[in-house]
Amino acid sequence: MTTTPDPNAALRSLPSMDALLTSAGGGGLIDRYGRSAAAQAMRDCLAEVRERLRQGETPPTSVEALLVEIARDLERRFQPSLRPVINAAGIILHTNLGRAPLSAAAQGAMVTVAAAYNTLEYDLAAGSRGSRLIHPESVLREVTGAEAALVVNNNAAALVLILSALAKGREVIISRGQLVEIGGGFRVPDVMIQSGARLVEVGTTNRTRPADYAAAITPETALLMRAHASNFRQIGFVESASLEDLAVLARSRDILLVDDLGSGALIDTARYGLEHEPTVQESLSAGCDLVAFSGDKLLGGPQAGIIVGRRALIEKLKKHPLARAIRADKLCLAALVATLDHYRRDEAPAQVPVWRMIARPLADLQAAAESWSAALREHAADRQIDLSVEVIDGESAVGGGSLPGATLPTTLLALRLRDPSLAAAALRAGDPPVIARIKEDRLLFDPRTVLPGQDAALLAALRAVLR
Ligand SMILES: *Cc1c(COP(=O)(O)O)cnc(C)c1O
Repeated sequence: MTTTPDPNAALRSLPSMDALLTSAGGGGLIDRYGRSAAAQAMRDCLAEVRERLRQGETPPTSVEALLVEIARDLERRFQPSLRPVINAAGIILHTNLGRAPLSAAAQGAMVTVAAAYNTLEYDLAAGSRGSRLIHPESVLREVTGAEAALVVNNNAAALVLILSALAKGREVIISRGQLVEIGGGFRVPDVMIQSGARLVEVGTTNRTRPADYAAAITPETALLMRAHASNFRQIGFVESASLEDLAVLARSRDILLVDDLGSGALIDTARYGLEHEPTVQESLSAGCDLVAFSGDKLLGGPQAGIIVGRRALIEKLKKHPLARAIRADKLCLAALVATLDHYRRDEAPAQVPVWRMIARPLADLQAAAESWSAALREHAADRQIDLSVEVIDGESAVGGGSLPGATLPTTLLALRLRDPSLAAAALRAGDPPVIARIKEDRLLFDPRTVLPGQDAALLAALRAVLR
């Protein structure tokens, strides 16, 4: 026989706020989250349960059961929205996933500088004010061969600074083939105009020759600009002027040549079976006056905009009022110097995560995918789950505005599922969230971008979804 629950009796027996606050479990939540946040969660929980009782539902109402709900709710409320994820999508530089993960040394450098007062702008020898810009400058000069260097917030800011300081109110010549949109609405022509420079477009979308630039130079011209086509490629009837040719032209007409290199590789990607991505050193030796690139793309460091080149120009940029507005912070500088030190020590391919991923041998990736597959098969067999799991050949992408379209051969774990997008959503809702790739009726997991130490968490997430 079933009895209809009496909502009024249940409402009367619902624990009070006081009972929750003074319970041992409630005290634990107060210690952990603070009194006001814990009390708010308790109030909200009681209000919700009260409402459900009025609707005739029969939710559990013991203090213990309510505290379980409240603890879960508080955990959710305090979970930062910016948090780590497992990138199993196989895109090494994924801008939405924070681009480059940092090396252990770079992480350590940030923590060390964050925890104490430091020499950010203090000259220990003189006992007086120093400059934050000296910290990355000598190592940047050493690894790139440049005369001088300056670090700002990001590469977009670096370009605005260069153009504002050197071309405001004057003309900047750029090829029509390089008026690109980088992503996130960042368009090279917009940035140029923002800086007060007058944009002079030359050539056509697919072909621009040195003579096109030469014909456009006037007494108003401040500089020639080259922007790396970082996220697309042109094939077919294509021609562009080399940096060497542009440097000769710029010098002969007494104007500057600036290269927006984008990705900022310091190592030759061709060593790892990729196409050759232009390096910072090459742009400098081609004769560019200034080269700008990001810190968190192929360099593999923190978000930063790095400008290297001729000393007199760098000095001018440092003195521009905008430089103060876009200066890099101490955490960035600490991580950047630690990252650059890996290059100085010739250990970047082993120590910088982005390069470790690029350099990871195929046999290694295959072994990882096979071991994931074995673990999942075992799990499925234990629980008599019908599971289609395969290890297949695939491709990883470098991403992040470098080597457009270029891929690295990899080995993927492929799960055939009735509803792969539902499973992908469940993986994203986990902790840590897992980002996978969906292809037709399969979910694909690329070991290349799964960091050392994340395998166990990835497998736990997969097991949970495959229940
Ligand atoms: C990525 C990129 C930028 C923007 O750099 P951020 O560091 O993201 O500001 C500018 N130019 C090129 C060619 C790029 O590839």
